Amino acid sequence: MMDFEKEFERQLRRRTGGGSTSAARAANKKAVAGAAARGQLHRERGSVVWGAIRVDSKKRQGRGAEALGQETVCEFLGQGSIGFEGRCAPVLLKRRGRDEAPPEGWTEDQVELQEMRDMVVQSRARGTWDAYARWWQTFSSYASSKGEQTHQWRRDSERDRQAMSHLLRRLVNTMRKQYAYGTVNMMVTAVARAAKDFGWPNPRDDDVLAAMLKGLAHLKGMNKKKQQAMLGEHVKAIMALRKRGGVTLVQWALLKAIVIVGWMAFLRVSEMLGGGKLKSGELKDGPSGLDVCDVTFVTDQGANNRLEVVVRSAKNDQAMEGHTTSVYADELEGEACAVQRLRDWMSLAQLKRSKGCTKGRLGCEDCGRKKCICDCTACGKMFRSVTHGKVQPHPMARSGLTRHLRALYARLEEDGVVPEGMAETVSGISLRAGGVTEAAAMGIERELLAGHGRWKSNSGPEQYDRQDKRKFKGVTAALQRSLQDHSEGKKRKR
Ligand SMILES: [Zn+2]
Ligand SMILES: [Zn+2]
Repeated sequence: MMDFEKEFERQLRRRTGGGSTSAARAANKKAVAGAAARGQLHRERGSVVWGAIRVDSKKRQGRGAEALGQETVCEFLGQGSIGFEGRCAPVLLKRRGRDEAPPEGWTEDQVELQEMRDMVVQSRARGTWDAYARWWQTFSSYASSKGEQTHQWRRDSERDRQAMSHLLRRLVNTMRKQYAYGTVNMMVTAVARAAKDFGWPNPRDDDVLAAMLKGLAHLKGMNKKKQQAMLGEHVKAIMALRKRGGVTLVQWALLKAIVIVGWMAFLRVSEMLGGGKLKSGELKDGPSGLDVCDVTFVTDQGANNRLEVVVRSAKNDQAMEGHTTSVYADELEGEACAVQRLRDWMSLAQLKRSKGCTKGRLGCEDCGRKKCICDCTACGKMFRSVTHGKVQPHPMARSGLTRHLRALYARLEEDGVVPEGMAETVSGISLRAGGVTEAAAMGIERELLAGHGRWKSNSGPEQYDRQDKRKFKGVTAALQRSLQDHSEGKKRKR
C-alpha cells in the first residue's frame, strides 16, 4: 500500500472518531500539509489534488459534495459501510456536466464503481453524510462488539440481512436508557439508508423494530419544541407598526420586506440569507442566499403584478435544479404588499439588477450549466446586513434576523396582539412555518402548499404546519350546512 493511502486511512479513522467538523477540518489540513511535504501533492487552480483526492482550498458554495464530505462518504460507503464492499477508493469530484478524467491505471470496473459512488454522493448534503457516517460507525462498532463484521456482509446474503435487522433491534434497546427518542431514531435512519444504498429492504419495515420505536416515542414523549408560526394576524400587525427612533429608515424597510416576502414565499432562512459562516469565517455548505437578480418583478397588465423568486438551491435540492415561487401584488393592502415592500427596500438600498449580471449567462465553466446559476457578484445579495444605516454587501446574519423578529414580536406583546412570552419562541423559521400554517388554516390543500413551498412531496409541508384550529372550521360549517339542507328538505315535504 502506498504511503498516502495509509495516511488517508489513518486520517479517516481519526476524523470519524473525532466528530466535530472543525477538528476534521484541522485534521484535513494537517494531512494535506504532510502529503505536500512528501511530494505526493500537486496543486491545481483553486484546489489541491492529493493522489486522486481533490481538496478544495477555497470553499466554493453549493456545488455538491466537497473533499471532506466525500471522505466522510468514503467512510460510509467504503470502509465500514455495507453500501459498497472493500476498502475506500479515492473519490473523484464529478459535477453535473463536468466529467473529470479518472486517474491513470484505473480499470474500467474501478471507474464504473466510482461513477456510481459519485452519483450517490451528490444525492445528499454534506452535513447529512457526516451524520450518517458517525451513526454508521456507532452501529458498526456495536456490531463488532457482538461478533459481527459489517464490512464482510454481502448483498445477496439473507443471513447477513437478518443479522443487521437483529442487531438494529438490540442497539435500539441498548440506547433506550440513555438517549432521547430523536437520537435513537437518527441512528436507525443512518442504518436504514446504508441498507437502502446496499439494495436491501428498509429495516424499518421490520414490525418489531417499528413497534419498539413507537413504544419508545410514547415512553419518552417526543420533544417537539417547535418555533412559533407567524400567523396572518401577526404579519398584519407587524406591517402596520410605525418605525421607532433608533431604527434607520433603510433597516425598517428591510425588515418589512423580509417578513412579507419570506412569509408569502415560504422561504427558508438559508434560502434568504445563505447558510451562514463557520467559526473560522468560512461559508457553510448549502444555499448561498437570494441574489438581487434571483427576483424578477413581472408587470402583467396590472392584474397579475408579481414577484418571481427563484430559489436556485435548497437543502432538499442538491442537484440545484432551482424552483420558482410567485408572490402576487396586493393592490388594496399597500402596507402588506410584498411587491411594494420589496421595491421600497431595493430603492432605499439602491439595489437593482446590474449591467454586469452573470445570472443565466451561457457557457459558464464554474457551474457547468447551460445557463449560469452561480452567485452573481455584480448584483449582489438581496437581504443584506445594515449597520448604522449603511447597507453592507454581505447578507444579514441569521442570528440578526431572529433578533429583529423578536424585537418586532416584543412590540406586538406590548400592544397586546400576542400573549407575553411569544417573542422568545420566534425565529427565522417562523416565516416559512407561519406562511404554511396560515395558508393551511385558510383551507389551502397540501398539494398547493407543497408546490408553493418547493417541496418534492406533498407530505413536505407537514412538519411546518402547526395545525391552527381554524383549519377545521370548515368541518363544522359543512355539518351545519347539512342540517340546514335537512330542515329545508322537511319543510318542502310538508
Ligand atoms: Zn446578477
Ligand atoms: Zn455559473
